[in-house]
Amino acid sequence: MIGRTHDLAAFTALSYVAATSPLQEVSLATLGVAIGANFLGGLAPDLDQTTSDFWHHVRGGNVISRIIAPLLGGHRFISHSILGIFLFGFIVDKILEMISGVLIVNMDIVWWAFMIGFVSHLVMDTFTKEGVPWLFPIPIRFGIPPFSFLRVKTGGMLEKSFIFPGLILLNFYIYYANYGKFLEFFKQYIK
Ligand SMILES: [Zn+2]
Repeated sequence: MIGRTHDLAAFTALSYVAATSPLQEVSLATLGVAIGANFLGGLAPDLDQTTSDFWHHVRGGNVISRIIAPLLGGHRFISHSILGIFLFGFIVDKILEMISGVLIVNMDIVWWAFMIGFVSHLVMDTFTKEGVPWLFPIPIRFGIPPFSFLRVKTGGMLEKSFIFPGLILLNFYIYYANYGKFLEFFKQYIK
């Protein structure tokens, strides 16, 4: 899937989790940082590709990417697996711990927002022709549906004309169906 679809999928997953979890107090700063972390999480598995959208957002990305991408073993390798989820979860936890002194936000929420984006990326890629090596280092790529010719081509017609608009509709549905809860949530900012 292309970066735009991953961004939207990450946001959709975050909205869904917010809609189905108990209501909690989240400061405006935490909300802003969490949404940013969610987008980064949605793009992070493609750190393994020098041409990915993630690197376009990072200053000096075209240089750094040439160091990091090979470390991750190339495209759709360790960062696209359950092992990768734990690895990134651990690293991001350490990074957040390091910046917790300068950035006064709820790091637990930021961490979860990142991870929700990260996992949503792997789920979305599972629908693409290339599949996802969920059980890395076991060299099998999984996909839904199981036959790759039935799956989505990254950046193709199906992604742009069906999956992307479908995710937008899904967002509308999540917010519409949980309208009361989101209203309650956003009320904390207009007190
Ligand atoms: Zn990917």
